[in-house]
Amino acid sequence: MIIVGFKNTPRILGTVDKFECPKCLNNTNWELLSVEKYLTLFFIPIIPTGNEYNIICAICKHQEILSKQNFKNYNLKLDIESTFSENKISENKRNLKLNEINRIIEEDKKNQKNIALQGSKEWSDLASKKSNEELLSIYFKERHKYNPSMIIAVKNEIEKRKFN
Ligand SMILES: [Zn+2]
Repeated sequence: MIIVGFKNTPRILGTVDKFECPKCLNNTNWELLSVEKYLTLFFIPIIPTGNEYNIICAICKHQEILSKQNFKNYNLKLDIESTFSENKISENKRNLKLNEINRIIEEDKKNQKNIALQGSKEWSDLASKKSNEELLSIYFKERHKYNPSMIIAVKNEIEKRKFN
């Protein structure tokens, strides 16, 4: 009998970002994770079936899927840090490079957020009709009762009111 299966080999590559985790709500470090997927024959990995790229919350281990481009950007940050630690580039040059790549990453996050927002106008309309107390209660106590789009809309509404 031939035994065929699948195997995932996750590899943590290093800390690459810091922001609020949508699941545990901690402002936490995120680690870059590459998951290599293989088809196995008699439990031995034979054929690679592609990679998945994630970042993982250092506290609750919640994972967010990255685009290939985002993964490359984060990987570039790790490269810059390792070249710097080997004294191959100056601190000044390292900072310049990190600023540039961070700018690209933030830009991309903003674009993704805008795309998500456009698709959820009805949710933001719904959130805008809630009182401050209701918003906070949904976000901090009752989040499990709502779908993720509503939670994002609620979070945006809370941020909007904070600044006005
Ligand atoms: Zn978390």
